[in-house]
Amino acid sequence: MKHFDAIIIGTGQAGPSLAARFADAGKTVAIIERSKFGGTCVNTGCTPTKTLVASAYAIHVARRGAEYGFSVGDVRVDINRVKARKDAASTRSSKGVEAWLRGMTNCTVIQGEASFQSPNSVMVNDEVLEADKIYINVGGRARVPEMPGIHDVPFLTNSSMMDIDFLPEQFIIVGGSYVGLEFAQIYRRLGSEVTIVEMGPRLIGREDEDISDAVREILEAEGINIRLNAKCISLEKRDAGVAVGLTCEEGPPEVVGTQVLMAVGRIPNTSDLGLDKGGVAIDTRGYITVDDQLQTNVSGIWALGDCNGRGAFTHTSYNDYEIVADNLFNADHRRVSDRIQAYALYIDPPLGRCGMTDAEVRKSGRRALAVKYPMSRVTRAYEKGETQGIIKICVDAETKQILGAAILGVGGDEVIHVLLDVMYAKAPYTVIERAMHIHPTVAEYLPTILGKLVPFA
Ligand SMILES: Cc1cc2nc3c(=O)[nH]c(=O)nc-3n(C[C@H](O)[C@H](O)[C@H](O)COP(=O)(O)OP(=O)(O)OC[C@H]3O[C@@H](n4cnc5c(N)ncnc54)[C@H](O)[C@@H]3O)c2cc1C
Repeated sequence: MKHFDAIIIGTGQAGPSLAARFADAGKTVAIIERSKFGGTCVNTGCTPTKTLVASAYAIHVARRGAEYGFSVGDVRVDINRVKARKDAASTRSSKGVEAWLRGMTNCTVIQGEASFQSPNSVMVNDEVLEADKIYINVGGRARVPEMPGIHDVPFLTNSSMMDIDFLPEQFIIVGGSYVGLEFAQIYRRLGSEVTIVEMGPRLIGREDEDISDAVREILEAEGINIRLNAKCISLEKRDAGVAVGLTCEEGPPEVVGTQVLMAVGRIPNTSDLGLDKGGVAIDTRGYITVDDQLQTNVSGIWALGDCNGRGAFTHTSYNDYEIVADNLFNADHRRVSDRIQAYALYIDPPLGRCGMTDAEVRKSGRRALAVKYPMSRVTRAYEKGETQGIIKICVDAETKQILGAAILGVGGDEVIHVLLDVMYAKAPYTVIERAMHIHPTVAEYLPTILGKLVPFA
């Protein structure tokens, strides 16, 4: 039986960096990958979708050429070239991760599916490997709910979307959250007729209501159909494609399309990992239970990234790696509970979000101050001709620390970090008020906007 100091299962956003840390420290490490190197973000998540967002944005701006003083005639989309550009970006990243791992001294790279044999051993390709420490970084996949008709119709997920080399004519997207909304705008801009079907009363239900409404307005202005309150979704095969039954409060009871994408959440890749043989506990939704430093119930086994249910983003998975590595190698007692929630929604304009939502502030019972400012009054935004969206900031009335913020608008995904870093510094918002920011930027408005705080209602 081969023995290693550490075994890492999965090459997502935490595993490869952790392997590098072990290898650099002169420890032997085996890293196991059953599919493409780099995992979801690189192959079927962030990288390909953000590459598609960039194509869709360029096409959108070309169509608006007259507003900027140029004309390109009819804008014609070549879906194969769009796909080729996306594939090139993903391949570059995936191959980069693979080459990095294979080039590491002390690191053994194994292609195959790993499953636990005991708390300190895993089986891969009929070989049993043993280690003092095992790190699980197996990620997740699209959730496919048991809705009526789901087994009778072909449907797409974020993974199979990566292979399509045609433009869906009438594209139905079930799920009005991050994944669904990004694909909706991308394909609308590429030329599809798009309908979003969402069970809840609004898009991105966890967001503030005014942000949800503003996102809806942005998407509807581009001709995306949005059907909310679809309480009872069912699928049925039709000659031309698929019918999605809705039972909505308003409008016809079904929409018919040529393709349907299921974008209704994610599930962890934990059911085929032999976790019972390792004695590793999971919760009722299949997520591996971990403590504040990401160790499972079994001493010597950790779980990082989407599979632990403590985050669902590339940056949360990478931060998991930092927490585990700093605890192990630097005796720096970092904890998951120290991190501040932050994410972006990459529609155009993007939404950057950090800290608490309005509902969370309300629930906390704190006395707070808040401000809301339209992007249309930001010089940089109207210079660029991109004035949709709002900036919202909420601060604690006593400590003056920032509680949460949302920047929906041009540059929102970047500008949000000004606020996020001040939150990490636990500094009062007044620090920003006294800062001199560069003109013309969206960030230069933050000092002015913070000067307009009023009691949070
Ligand atoms: C469409 C889409 C867009 C997204 N966009 C963004 C974004 O813009 N920003 C952002 O922060 N996040 C985004 N995300 C989320 C992000 O992709 C994930 O949070 C992130 O990739 C999680 O990484 P991970 O480290 O948990 O594991 P993953 O990246 O999922 O990797 C897990 C790896 O483990 C391997 N594996 C699983 N089981 C086994 C086994 N038994 N043996 C061996 N190998 C195994 C898998 O093959 C996979 O390669 C997006 C997700 C989707 C679906």
